[in-house]
Amino acid sequence: MKGEELVNHLSSKLQGKTIVEKLKFLTDNYPGKVIFTTSFGYEDQVITDFIFRNDIPVKVVTLDTGRLFEETYKVYRSTLDRYGRQITAYFPPAKEVEKMLSEKGPFSFYESIENRKECCYIRKVIPLKRALNGMSVWITGLRATQSENRSNLSEIEHDEGNNIVKFNPLFKWSLLKVKEYIKEHNVPYNVLHDRGFVSIGCEPCTRAIREGEDFRAGRWWWEQNTGKECGLHE
Ligand code: SF4
Repeated sequence: MKGEELVNHLSSKLQGKTIVEKLKFLTDNYPGKVIFTTSFGYEDQVITDFIFRNDIPVKVVTLDTGRLFEETYKVYRSTLDRYGRQITAYFPPAKEVEKMLSEKGPFSFYESIENRKECCYIRKVIPLKRALNGMSVWITGLRATQSENRSNLSEIEHDEGNNIVKFNPLFKWSLLKVKEYIKEHNVPYNVLHDRGFVSIGCEPCTRAIREGEDFRAGRWWWEQNTGKECGLHE
């Protein structure tokens, strides 16, 4: 089974199950081939908690772009301390980063959309493709209310670009529900969330948002109408 047929099949199998049961179903059916990519934001920390607290054999990885906030590394550390599990780091290819920095300097992404997409491609998309290689199911922390782009999100999707099934267990959760879960289970979280940051990516490309602003307004805020995605979830 492939693509839409597989998605329909999995959707019917997952129906009526809890998140933990769904994760177990997927790891039972795709042993060693279920991966979760975390950027240590609120939603990802909820999923990490589900996985580690319930001993679910999902490969947990992070894409370290080399431009993350210090606060993100701190929650990375506290997550390792809390659960005592491995989180595998994927780095961008050194040669491409060296070439980009040597030719364009360290802030090329502010100069044009092409440069920004080039940087996201080198620092995020290439490592992601390496991480997803050979995997069957990719778990993400996407929620439908995070942005207009994500409003059509489903729980299970087929990602054609990466040829993988995507499982978005929090797709229907509100931000409030995410926050309540974090509090209730005392899950480590990025302190930047307490300073108005909602979607946290690289330090030079993320700012806090003001009340009433769109969830993704703090990402690449100098760009207009680019969809505010970096190539990971398009
Ligand atoms: Fe580069 Fe900014 Fe994209 Fe990070 S978010 S990879 S620094 S352009």
